[in-house]
Amino acid sequence: MTVLVADPGAVPSVSFEFFPPTDAAMELTLWASLRRLAPLAPSFVSVTYGADGSTRDRTHAIVTRIAAESGLTSVPHLTCVGARRETIIEIARRYWDGGIRHIVALRGDPPGDRAYAATAGGFAHAADLVAGLRRVADFEISVAGYPETHPEAPSPAADLAYLKAKCDAGASRVISQFFFDADVFLRFRDRCVAAGITVPVVPGILPVTRFAQLERFAARCGATIPVEVARRFQGLDDDPEARQLIAAALAIDLVTRLRTAGIEQFHFYTLNRAELTYAICHSLGLRPRAAAAREQHPPVPSAARAGRC
Ligand SMILES: Cc1cc2nc3c(=O)[nH]c(=O)nc-3n(C[C@H](O)[C@H](O)[C@H](O)COP(=O)(O)OP(=O)(O)OC[C@H]3O[C@@H](n4cnc5c(N)ncnc54)[C@H](O)[C@@H]3O)c2cc1C
Repeated sequence: MTVLVADPGAVPSVSFEFFPPTDAAMELTLWASLRRLAPLAPSFVSVTYGADGSTRDRTHAIVTRIAAESGLTSVPHLTCVGARRETIIEIARRYWDGGIRHIVALRGDPPGDRAYAATAGGFAHAADLVAGLRRVADFEISVAGYPETHPEAPSPAADLAYLKAKCDAGASRVISQFFFDADVFLRFRDRCVAAGITVPVVPGILPVTRFAQLERFAARCGATIPVEVARRFQGLDDDPEARQLIAAALAIDLVTRLRTAGIEQFHFYTLNRAELTYAICHSLGLRPRAAAAREQHPPVPSAARAGRC
């Protein structure tokens, strides 16, 4: 087992995930959240891609606007679902030509409850997409990993072998599906290392305040909701403020445990909201860039500047 102890003085690096909004109000929320989180200087912000490519143009528009207006490293997600290889390659070329250098490469899921079937002439699995992107340009590529095993995988060992194949094809980071038990993630990280995966395995943190929504997400991706998590949300359906506090406490506990175990990068599924992610990052020691600079170089009192002290 790998035992790492984080330097308590060091600040971890973080990345934030957003999804393309579907209406004007959600759009305002997205940009407000970005403005709030940007000063924390994330290593990148990523934008998801609709299940069947339905958000292709919106993902592209948001990714390019984030890059142009915030100067942050802006990263599109790209999936294999419902598109031929040449279409996906064309999208990737457009990104490269527009200055985008990092992609989160995924297989994706079909819309609704349909079983996944590879598109004729398309990439069948995420590993094939990673290899295809590598042939387009020297992209940095992140891929998905599953601490509790992907629901369609024949076995945990096979799932891990397929994850290794994505890394061997050229991925340089694994971002995990969300989870609530730090030990589940840490065991997964250790299994990745034992399987020869040498790239960073980054925990995906989902700060969620609506338990019903959480149950839906978890059912879809096979994540376990511990009894203790369910118990803490019980009876709070009509109390958003208490839920918010519970959600923050749970997520801060989780990242603190991971940090103590040596985790140095965190990816946040923000659900386009800033407040919880901001508070969790604060608890990890992150400060807005301007404030951090002030702490390192406190302003000289005016009397001192004038040479009177
Ligand atoms: C960080 C993160 C971001 C995500 N972003 C999006 C998004 O923007 N849009 C979206 O639609 N979905 C997104 N998803 C969900 C993801 O698309 C689904 O979980 C999907 O079901 C699997 O995608 P994958 O890239 O892990 O697929 P793969 O790595 O291809 O694996 C999918 C399944 O196939 C199996 N497998 C892999 N290779 C082979 C092979 N050669 N032969 C047989 N079986 C194989 C695996 O074990 C696994 O069960 C995201 C998930 C994560 C964790």
